[in-house]
Amino acid sequence: CGVGITYSGNDADGEKLRLGPNDYTRERAALTGVLHVLQVWDRSTPLFIGVEDKAVSLNLTKRLDSNVRFGRVNTGSCAQVYRATAAALLARSGGVTFVPFAKQGGRLKAIELAQAAHSAPPSQPSLTTNALLALRGRPLAGLTQGEAHKTVIATQVIAARKTTIARLAESIAAVGDATSRWPTPGDVWASLRSKDLHRPTREFLWRLAHGTQKVGPFWRNVKNLEHRATCLHCNGQTETMEHALLLCNAPGREIIWQETQQLWARSGLPWPDISLGAIISCGLNHFTRRNGKRDAGAARRFKILVSEAAFLVWRIRNEWVIVNEGDHAKYPTVGEIRKRWKATISRRIRLDTQLLNRRRFGTRAVNLGLFRGTWEPLRHPGSDPPPGNWWASAGFLDGMWQRRPGERVPTGQPNHESVTFSQESA
Ligand SMILES: [Zn+2]
Repeated sequence: CGVGITYSGNDADGEKLRLGPNDYTRERAALTGVLHVLQVWDRSTPLFIGVEDKAVSLNLTKRLDSNVRFGRVNTGSCAQVYRATAAALLARSGGVTFVPFAKQGGRLKAIELAQAAHSAPPSQPSLTTNALLALRGRPLAGLTQGEAHKTVIATQVIAARKTTIARLAESIAAVGDATSRWPTPGDVWASLRSKDLHRPTREFLWRLAHGTQKVGPFWRNVKNLEHRATCLHCNGQTETMEHALLLCNAPGREIIWQETQQLWARSGLPWPDISLGAIISCGLNHFTRRNGKRDAGAARRFKILVSEAAFLVWRIRNEWVIVNEGDHAKYPTVGEIRKRWKATISRRIRLDTQLLNRRRFGTRAVNLGLFRGTWEPLRHPGSDPPPGNWWASAGFLDGMWQRRPGERVPTGQPNHESVTFSQESA
């Protein structure tokens, strides 16, 4: 007569809900469980939900439009709960992915909880459907069968690491929020293998996605290095990758992001919020031209700039923490940091000019149209078009780094008007 709910990676916590004796059907129980989870978790938290009743997950994904939203309901006595659940799903900003129940670790525990549910207070979920009225056809992490299959495979492969799942979910949510398209886990993994990313940068993103960089709590158990668990710059703050890359006040971080954003702004395109998930999924952003067509050059530019910026922030942090042992007398200067940033991007552009050589690089070569689409929008707005084959001379890079009179010079001071960093942690 009840429902058991367990959360992955956490054996202790679980919930049980009791349904009234006249209310109980398998379908209704499963549905009530889903609705409960959707209502108690913050709307922006991405969720992976496994439900025992397959019909329920199908009705909430593939058949959502036909069965539930448009009222062609063959969902019987559960119709009202279905509508409330659909509304709760559609009102979320974090993605929801349904995964197969049998493959979920907490299954036995969930069954145990359900059996003990008679001792729980009766469940009366709120059946409000207001969100349906505001519905603008936002896609769910809604799945066609093919996509569902891909999602399931990827979810199983990575299920071993809790951090990986959390990072993956953050990445999917970041793309979903910025572009209203929800990539599958498979898309995220594929984007991390992109040949547009220079190998060390690609490895950095890969490790970021798996949470294998050694920060924070990792050091608590390492003798004589316990002090590395907290940020050596921000007194007593536990260091996490999010802190190191996006929140830390140590010199370097803010300037690099401001420079990156300023360079990007020349192309006149919006700069999405940069969160940890947005860095990992930087290869999945879509940009469109004025004519509505996809701008592949912008997507590639964003991918390269964001990944290189994050990686440079990380390298500079490591040099100060590890090589200079967090010595407050040995901070890099603003000038040095800016020089490193310019050198990093210049080197990447020069590497790209080499990659134009199809004879030498074969399938790894970049085509000229994409190359130009990637870099030419970084010249100052309104400046003359660059000479026909600018990539053959150094002039383009020189022009790109010259500041225009009146152009704000980033100082590294927090500037919350133009730089928005997501401070949520999942
Ligand atoms: Zn810090």
